[in-house]
Amino acid sequence: MERQGRPSILIAGGGTAGWMAAAALARFATGHDIALVESEAIGTVGVGEATIPQIHLFNAALGLDEGEFLRETKGSFKLGIEFDGWLREGESYMHAFGAIGRGVGLLPFQHYWLRARKLGLAKPLQRYSLNELAARTLHMRIGRRAPGAPEMPYAYHFDAGLYAAYLRRYAEARGVVRHEGMIAGVGRDGENGDIASITLDDGRELAADFFIDCTGFRGLLIEGTLETGFDDWSGYLPCDRALAVPCAGGGDFTPYTRSSARRAGWQWRIPLQHRIGNGIVYSSAHMGEDEAAAILLANLDGEAQGDPRPIRFTTGMRRRHWNRNCLALGLAAGFMEPLESTSIHLIQGAISRFLALLPHGRPSMAAIDHFNAQAAFEWTRIRDFLVLHYTANAREGEPFWDAVRHMELPATLAEKIALWREAGFIHREHEELFTEVAWFQVFAGQGVDAGAYNPMADAMPQAELAAMLADTEATLVNEVRAMDRHIDVLQQAIATRKT
Ligand code: FAD
Repeated sequence: MERQGRPSILIAGGGTAGWMAAAALARFATGHDIALVESEAIGTVGVGEATIPQIHLFNAALGLDEGEFLRETKGSFKLGIEFDGWLREGESYMHAFGAIGRGVGLLPFQHYWLRARKLGLAKPLQRYSLNELAARTLHMRIGRRAPGAPEMPYAYHFDAGLYAAYLRRYAEARGVVRHEGMIAGVGRDGENGDIASITLDDGRELAADFFIDCTGFRGLLIEGTLETGFDDWSGYLPCDRALAVPCAGGGDFTPYTRSSARRAGWQWRIPLQHRIGNGIVYSSAHMGEDEAAAILLANLDGEAQGDPRPIRFTTGMRRRHWNRNCLALGLAAGFMEPLESTSIHLIQGAISRFLALLPHGRPSMAAIDHFNAQAAFEWTRIRDFLVLHYTANAREGEPFWDAVRHMELPATLAEKIALWREAGFIHREHEELFTEVAWFQVFAGQGVDAGAYNPMADAMPQAELAAMLADTEATLVNEVRAMDRHIDVLQQAIATRKT
């Protein structure tokens, strides 16, 4: 039955997903009544500290001030992700944000680099990446140095708990009503089967027209009530456990995330203003918790702040992210590895697609199907990118790495690899998140050899090719020389207050 009055949306769960949704709805769905219910007794997953540059779009849409955001979340800047030991122990590469080299005419840079490499003229890829050159020397800048100078895209590391608290204040100041309490039951509409209300353990009943499930891995509404189903991707992404532990600051204050391959998984390092976030993601079929904890603790840059906290997960996604009058966001929608810091991005992408289709009454099947098709596309293409990191390894003799090297790949990824191997060709399909440049860096960094490049690259005389590479590198090195240290840029940003 349709309810009378202003349409209402109830968000179940107040982690990063719940408060991001609440803040965005408070800002844009001004004709709706928005409420959120969460339980302090249950708490949040408490991880999720690295982002990608698209986070700027979300913060800007809310009108957040960068200085305030960094102060509130103890954030720092991120220019990319370093992958340490992913090809083999002792080797490292970076997936840096922003451009690599420069394309000429119709051809992207990778073809010129591949040709130059064959001729022995090319330097390692990082010599042609502004973000990587700056990140490795702990430098950065915000904005362009001069009109026409190369851009330096950046993201943030932040304390996810503080981000959620910051967004909570934002949302409550704009009218979002928060209910504290444990969800004990979910009521269905007897006529159409939609969700009608949530009952709390003290007997309160919260009715709404639409529900957003942000209850984390539990998926209380989308799965517990609507039994939507889950596509299990552990055949492609077999890690199923994590241990997280913050430590005191130490080592370089790097403007990048570090992901270090370990015996049966990998370890993250995320520097914030007040501490370093660390964790290990691993496959329980190949490594026990004690060993994972020992590896994690042996590789910290400062004193551990507490015991490692275990988290269990299954990689994959809901068959339908939007089912009936319920949208799943965040971990309730599914989970892939934090390897490329995509979870918060997936939340923000889903929120903006939902806002574009914001239902007034009962949502139409056309809107729901459209949303779900876009979500499935976005998730599967990100999954493929993550799988590439695993499958293209040369860590021979280590059972976990041997298994992922030989796994059967999703057809969409197998096709991408085949095109790269055949002709150095990278196809970015529709609006898939990761660009040609991102794939190029991971292909090159993980040792996936392109057998050929586009023959149009041969049209450039060899001397011109060498000069082009040298000039590109010199330009970028000069740009970095004019930059400030990351820590100084951060301190200045934190000190900047909106007048
Ligand atoms: P949660 O934080 O689990 O929140 C669930 C909410 O639901 C809580 O408020 C809880 O109280 C409430 N709730 C649950 N059950 C009930 C109930 N019965 N009654 C009332 N309330 C209830 N993402 C990134 O983008 N970058 C990263 O670097 C990153 N690293 C990660 C590392 C790991 C190991 C993991 C597991 C995830 C990582 N993520 C990362 C993902 C990121 O943590 C999540 O996407 C993000 O925190 C959103 O979580 P959530 O809000 O969906 O769930």
